[in-house]
Amino acid sequence: MDFRCRVCDVVFQSSGTKKEYVDSIYGPCSKVVANCPTCGGESSEFRTPKQKKSSSSGAIAPCGMSPQAAGCSSCSQ
Ligand SMILES: [Zn+2]
Repeated sequence: MDFRCRVCDVVFQSSGTKKEYVDSIYGPCSKVVANCPTCGGESSEFRTPKQKKSSSSGAIAPCGMSPQAAGCSSCSQ
């Protein structure tokens, strides 16, 4: 698993440990945390943002138009 320390702004790999906590809004929750190798601070899991393919339905094309929209030749390559 990848974790990211917000203090050091570094991403590191660790097996992590499960931590249970009580959220003031959602109640009992659990998350996986790991200690930063640099500062030792608690870091939460880092998930790489998924790249959306421009060809997938519903995605917004770079020009801002829907891919299904006719006449957008700048995004159809
Ligand atoms: Zn750190």
